[in-house]
Amino acid sequence: MIIDKNTKNNQLKIINNQLLRIAFLFWLLILGGCVERQLTTPTTQMDAEPQFWVRVLLLDDVKSCRLKFDSPFCIINSRTQNISAHFDKPNAVTKAEIFNAKITIANYAITDNKTVILPEAPYIFNLNGNDYRGKLQFIINPDGHSFDVINLVPIEPYLAGVVGAEMYSYWEPEALKAQAIAARTYCLYIKKRFGSRRCWDIRKTQANQAYRGVKAESPNIWNAVNKTYGQVLVCRQTDGTEDIFPAYYSSSCGGHTENSKYVFGDSFEPLVGVPCPYCKNVAKPGFFFWPMAKFDKADVTNSLLRRYPKLKQLGKIKGIVPVRQSDYKGFSRLTLVKLVGSTGKSDSIRAEDLRLTIDPTGRKLKSTICKILNMGNQWAFLSGRGYGHGVGMCQCGAEGMARQGKKAGQILAYYYPHSKIVRIY
Ligand SMILES: [Zn+2]
Repeated sequence: MIIDKNTKNNQLKIINNQLLRIAFLFWLLILGGCVERQLTTPTTQMDAEPQFWVRVLLLDDVKSCRLKFDSPFCIINSRTQNISAHFDKPNAVTKAEIFNAKITIANYAITDNKTVILPEAPYIFNLNGNDYRGKLQFIINPDGHSFDVINLVPIEPYLAGVVGAEMYSYWEPEALKAQAIAARTYCLYIKKRFGSRRCWDIRKTQANQAYRGVKAESPNIWNAVNKTYGQVLVCRQTDGTEDIFPAYYSSSCGGHTENSKYVFGDSFEPLVGVPCPYCKNVAKPGFFFWPMAKFDKADVTNSLLRRYPKLKQLGKIKGIVPVRQSDYKGFSRLTLVKLVGSTGKSDSIRAEDLRLTIDPTGRKLKSTICKILNMGNQWAFLSGRGYGHGVGMCQCGAEGMARQGKKAGQILAYYYPHSKIVRIY
């Protein structure tokens, strides 16, 4: 076929236009997908007993926040259960603001920390652009100038927002199930241990476990939560009884998990270290072996003194010396270091605390399996491997085991030896 130059140019233009149109349609689809939330399941357990709810600290010490409700909502006094106000205009964006110990929301004034906001079905509210299930509570701080925002949410929907934030939803179903059981156990333990002393049970960050609400959910994630409904891990306690324990977990252990007593200072039979040949091929590049991380010495001193005022007597930190480490085949995890100061005084600190003080996100200084080098004005951390504190289940390792056909129960038995799964509701 003979095609002249003009015909060829016209054909190219048509193809280009078609490509542009297809790209535009794709863009619309992606944008639509991002904006429109697809609820994979209704909010379950809304009628559960109080012990099966968890109070998640969503915002800390804020002066205002943005709110939107998909459905009508009411304001209830949790002490009397009386409805103080009812709002039947859904989808309107409103602002909660504090002034002189009074929070105003949609022209209604909240002056009582017992006030709870309950959206009607599907029991979803949007806080600063993120959707969460359950109820909402404001806690006015004693100074009257700021408040905390707490999400009261039944445990199972809470877990859907955790499992999807802690693992990729495309990971193996058995790894996701192991994650759901570990997260359920951890959450109930933290609630039991610390909840009675404060207005909330757990943080939404990695300081406890990541919780991203509805946007972390997917059918795979809900499947893992539902298939493990009410299941937790228990172990023998010092008094001989069986109970839950802090089922810690971290991203990638680097080849061996760590004994909890050297990292968090608590001892439970399942929280001893185990070898982990499973995470190496699952962890993303740069996470199993990570590149050298450098920090200015002045910044390191400042961060340490801010977080630990008792270190002020040391002056400038001139030396960081390993004191205790767990040795494995070919590598070791620092667990205790000595800080030597310019005044000649020294003090010891857990290596994991040092890591998270220097780099609170932990993204650069990924673990304490590393060597510390004194480099002029900087501290360099090199030969690093693993991501996270290394205690309990290795998440990448759990995925590695699941890829080899292991079940959730086998994964948990491996990373938490001497534990067993029981169903508590
Ligand atoms: Zn591992």
